[in-house]
Amino acid sequence: MSRSSRILTIGCVFLFFAFVSALGGCTVNPATGQRSFTLMSWEKEKQMGAEAAAGLAEQFGGEVGDTISSAYVTEIGMKLVTGVEPAVPDLDWEFTLLNDGLVNAFALPGGRVYITRGMAEKLENEAELAGVLGHEIGHVTARHGNQRISKQIGFNVLMGASAVAVGTTSSDSDLRTYGQYALPAMAIGGNLVILKYGRSEESQADMLGMRYMSRAGYDPAGQLRVMEILLESSSGGQRSPEWLSTHPYPETRIERVRELLESQYPDHATNPAYRLNAAQYKARMLDRLDVLEPVPAKN
Ligand SMILES: [Zn+2]
Repeated sequence: MSRSSRILTIGCVFLFFAFVSALGGCTVNPATGQRSFTLMSWEKEKQMGAEAAAGLAEQFGGEVGDTISSAYVTEIGMKLVTGVEPAVPDLDWEFTLLNDGLVNAFALPGGRVYITRGMAEKLENEAELAGVLGHEIGHVTARHGNQRISKQIGFNVLMGASAVAVGTTSSDSDLRTYGQYALPAMAIGGNLVILKYGRSEESQADMLGMRYMSRAGYDPAGQLRVMEILLESSSGGQRSPEWLSTHPYPETRIERVRELLESQYPDHATNPAYRLNAAQYKARMLDRLDVLEPVPAKN
């Protein structure tokens, strides 16, 4: 490497770290207690979530046109949110029941959580609903979307830096454009929704979901039951629920959830503070969905 390209490399690395520290960089996450690489502020996450949410429900059949079941989802979601770590700032928490037959649930950075009618119909009680919503809340508070995007930006900047260093680009304008392109690029809503998380992110969301469930008075075993129900429904040649592709690694997760139940919630089965609320779920969700128009078939 010539002297000038070495200087250029050092300059690029310096630029990268300046870029990272200017935007945020490594922070301790208040929910997980772990250091993570996040370039966006919470405010930026909320803004991005709001942008991505515009027109999103319509892509998934719109909201279920029943105020009782919709309000029920919001009520349970907001109950779980009261257990979120106090150091997490106020987010735009919003819980939407989508009139979509696919079995899925997802969350946008900044606090918007969605669950499909197909998923709600598979569940048997309120604790399981809390399991699905709690898991999604966990992705939000652990800032998994932010981390994913931040890693991608960091990677792009580093690639840009090394490309400049080895002289494969003719100008340094590429580097400058990263600063401009980085933020608008995150606002591409479709990509956020279909973010597929990794093994550790999934287990972390389960762990946080169980914590929020427990704090709201639900048996955290509901989290395990959700995964069992979804795995059972994908056996026998049936199509695998979409939730298992957007939230993968069910076998590892089941194992981790079982370990957590044993180590953190050993009395969960007999704890009088924990509820399942099967009758409430039937009355406020299953019976309501039962008499609604079926989900229109997709082309
Ligand atoms: Zn997940």
